[in-house]
Amino acid sequence: MESNIVLRVKDLSMRYGRNEVLTNVNFEVEKGDYIGIVGPNGSGKTTLIKGLLGLLPCAEGEIEYMEKEKGIQHFGYLPQKILVNDRLFPARVSEIVGIGLIGTKAFPKFIQKEDKEKIERILDRLSILHLKNKRLGDLSGGQQQRVLLARAMVNEPRLLILDEPTSALDPKVREDFYQLIAELNQKEGMTILLVSHDIGSIGKYTKKMMYLDKELVFFGDYERFCKSSDMTAYFGHAAQHQFCWRHTDESDCK
Ligand code: ADP
Repeated sequence: MESNIVLRVKDLSMRYGRNEVLTNVNFEVEKGDYIGIVGPNGSGKTTLIKGLLGLLPCAEGEIEYMEKEKGIQHFGYLPQKILVNDRLFPARVSEIVGIGLIGTKAFPKFIQKEDKEKIERILDRLSILHLKNKRLGDLSGGQQQRVLLARAMVNEPRLLILDEPTSALDPKVREDFYQLIAELNQKEGMTILLVSHDIGSIGKYTKKMMYLDKELVFFGDYERFCKSSDMTAYFGHAAQHQFCWRHTDESDCK
């Protein structure tokens, strides 16, 4: 039987020097998941992402991408602080998206005709093909974000890792962005991890929640979170139900 698991994290601990910042984290990401990663400041969200991107080694345990086929792009990453305000920033949209293709190429890393087609396909999919020849610095914040999303997706990664846009974008642009991500998840079955700094609204968008506080406090869907007496004990009744966004009346949850 073909496994649905995209990524498996097993007994993971991570450290900076002697300072252990994540301890014994275990979870699996399944194809089509849309997982919100939340937790207080300093809880290890960024450190976990660095581990998943291969930028920081595991102190213990392992991070395993399940698909072993050669040439597969395991993940695409959209960073948080992205805005370029410099109108003279010279790179054009198609060149920036092309950077997403270079990682898996052998040397010399030239962009070929089929790469150009790939770039145009992803720009079209994200409704920004008309921006192809524009300079990044000439685009709005929301448009820039779509360009970088295109860069993260152009190589058809199995998992999309997003750092949530916060103050850099206005609320309307943020909503549009979430709408687009929800569509990628629902219509195309894209598997998504979204790091969020907004604990209060994560339940509105994602299907599962990972709550970190130097260890894995919770991982699962909101219904389970909502009904968990352990989580009531951890967060208190009111906070627990502010996360879940699944009802307006607390009594619905019981
Ligand atoms: P979050 O993203 O949830 O705010 P981080 O993963 O950035 O949390 O940080 C987790 C802990 O690791 C914090 O205590 C932070 O001070 C520490 N930390 C983060 N980056 C470094 C670093 N480069 N060197 C040493 N300690 C770090």
